[in-house]
Amino acid sequence: MKIIDLTQTISEKMPVYPGTEQPIFSPSSTFAKDGFLETFLQMVSHTGTHLDAPGHMFEQGATLDQLSIEQFCGMGVIIDATSCHGGEIPLSVIEPYGGKMRLCQFVLLKTGYDRYWGKEQYFDGYPLLTAEAAEYLAGQEQLTGVGIDAISFDKIDSNDFPIHKTLLSTGKILIENLTNLDGIWGNMAMISVLPLKYSHADGSPVRAVAFQPPPGIFCPC
Ligand SMILES: [Zn+2]
Repeated sequence: MKIIDLTQTISEKMPVYPGTEQPIFSPSSTFAKDGFLETFLQMVSHTGTHLDAPGHMFEQGATLDQLSIEQFCGMGVIIDATSCHGGEIPLSVIEPYGGKMRLCQFVLLKTGYDRYWGKEQYFDGYPLLTAEAAEYLAGQEQLTGVGIDAISFDKIDSNDFPIHKTLLSTGKILIENLTNLDGIWGNMAMISVLPLKYSHADGSPVRAVAFQPPPGIFCPC
């Protein structure tokens, strides 16, 4: 089994969404004082590779702790959107994956923008789903989550977050700041994005992982 880590590392100097507080790591216990090591972590619930719950955008929306564990694991199809830099991800890029999508619970949009992680460009020019493409994905009832290897599904200066709302309004979860989608062979894999189980979770950092069986073992890839 090949296991591919799709997660960015959380650190005090990591890129965060503009206006969001940087994570703070402070020593809670130390070897010198206590004989063991613990760290007090402070971070916004949408730090690094993370999930958005419907409750992130809608007051009555479900929070992550209310969702079934089954919503966070399942087959995923990786859509190649690397040709869309600086522009949009239209329905014509999504639709050819429709057959595989029907077998899947997740759609992961591979923009390749993770290569700019830590650079100013990460916040600028990442491709955005068109309204039509977002509505198409929202209408796929079998999907429980949609992910992207960029900072957001909406423009960095958006005030109304239309793509977030189109997707979250159907009860799906969103995954942002994925990385390493190139490490997945072909375009299907088992995906796991298990969030922290805290109460009223509008979002959570996750360790996002893809699992791929060795060639020859059944996989609908
Ligand atoms: Zn978020």
